Amino acid sequence: MNPVELVKRQKAYFRSGATKSVEFRMKQLELLKEVITKHEQDFVDAIFKDFRKPEFETYATEIGIIHDEINYALKNLENWTKKQRVSGSLVNFPSKNYTVAEPYGSVLIIAPWNYPVQLALLPVVGAVAAGNTVVIKPSELTPNTSSAIAGIMSTYFQDKFIAVAEGGVEVNQKLLEQEFDYIFFTGSTRVGKIVMKAAAEYLTPVTLELGGKSPCIVDKSANLEISARRIAWGKFLNAGQTCVAPDYILVQENSKNDLLKHLKSAIWDFYGEDPGESPDYPRIVNEDHFNRLMGYLKEGSVFYGGQSDKKERYISPTILTDIEPNASVMEEEIFGPILPVLTFKEIEEAIDIINKKPKPLAFYVFTEDDKNESLLMESCSFGGGAVNDVVAHLGNPNLPFGGIGNSGMGAYHGKTSFDTFSHTKSIMKKTSWLDIPFRYAPYEGKLKWIKKILK
Ligand code: NAD
Repeated sequence: MNPVELVKRQKAYFRSGATKSVEFRMKQLELLKEVITKHEQDFVDAIFKDFRKPEFETYATEIGIIHDEINYALKNLENWTKKQRVSGSLVNFPSKNYTVAEPYGSVLIIAPWNYPVQLALLPVVGAVAAGNTVVIKPSELTPNTSSAIAGIMSTYFQDKFIAVAEGGVEVNQKLLEQEFDYIFFTGSTRVGKIVMKAAAEYLTPVTLELGGKSPCIVDKSANLEISARRIAWGKFLNAGQTCVAPDYILVQENSKNDLLKHLKSAIWDFYGEDPGESPDYPRIVNEDHFNRLMGYLKEGSVFYGGQSDKKERYISPTILTDIEPNASVMEEEIFGPILPVLTFKEIEEAIDIINKKPKPLAFYVFTEDDKNESLLMESCSFGGGAVNDVVAHLGNPNLPFGGIGNSGMGAYHGKTSFDTFSHTKSIMKKTSWLDIPFRYAPYEGKLKWIKKILK
């Protein structure tokens, strides 16, 4: 599909006004829900082919989340699209004031491979709810899912409204040369910078949902058994290929051995003696990522796990201790099933380690100590996070989801998705029956009054 033609067609369709009525948006969201339900098995099979993701995880972390987002939008859309009255101001008396959400136009949504259905279609819900047309660019690293998304969406949606552009980096580059009205990118910080540079050409607004090293702090007051189970779940879900997975653990020194013991038994409980045999444990997406991850295993001592099979792209859930100074496993986002465990003595030391790194996407604290909790929450900057849990915060549509600094800009989910894909138009309405001449020249004698009003 020629991207120049595609964007032209989408812009013409948008200009026709077809996407703007609330009825149209609702109908399309209902259709999307129907399509996802009807083709659930196709998505499950495609992701399984790509990296052996178990059906339960595909439903819980991809399909179910999209249903939730659509339900939420359907329930609230009428309200979101209404004019929102705001108070007037003294200098503009008398006037009526309101804001109204208007769609941007044609939106480009670029998705990564790690939650290939959810991250391609979840932003579509917000974009459609807000009244835009959409071009989706799925990741080429999960080719089965990319082609399933393209095949299914093109059967039900005309490409002047929702189109899927399949392909690699070159396709994305061509798309980025076009003048979209909004770009929503999920992926790495490196490519996020490329996207933002391209967007600058037309001053196109962007949301960047990026990654980073999300820390997980466990202090001595924490319930170590529960902490270990929740951390192991969030870390090894999707074989660690999750943007908000706890990247590394900082545990208070005296609790380290107990936490390690509980982590080991949690992994054993979840995946058995040989996780390679477990139907619930996915594979690494491709050989490059497999090789990258294997390199990290040499940078510390393997406390647990460490087994691998290159042919299968399998790396078992692995806990790494005694990390070498300046190890790349503590510099780069891991994005795989390797969990470094480091220690700290006092909470300030943990804060110092975290704050020397770029601002993370997620931040997790396991503690029963309110003072430590407040200190950590106030001292560290991050996209979003959880106390005594990991990852689960993104399942609440009332919590905006997004990063800060290197982990991104902007947010979505729930109402925030609608806001992200809408421009808020501000409108003031004046009457003509009264025209206070104060603002007009000549200004003589008026300065002292304006100083009294606006001070
Ligand atoms: P990526 O940045 O390599 O690729 C994302 C998209 O960009 C793909 O569609 C790809 O085709 C395109 N792309 C790649 N190189 C390009 C280039 N040079 N020019 C133009 N387009 C290009 O990311 P990935 O490997 O697919 O995903 C992993 C990253 O995504 C991790 O950093 C992870 O943390 C992040 N992520 C973030 C979130 C979030 O919600 N914040 C969610 C999932 C993943």
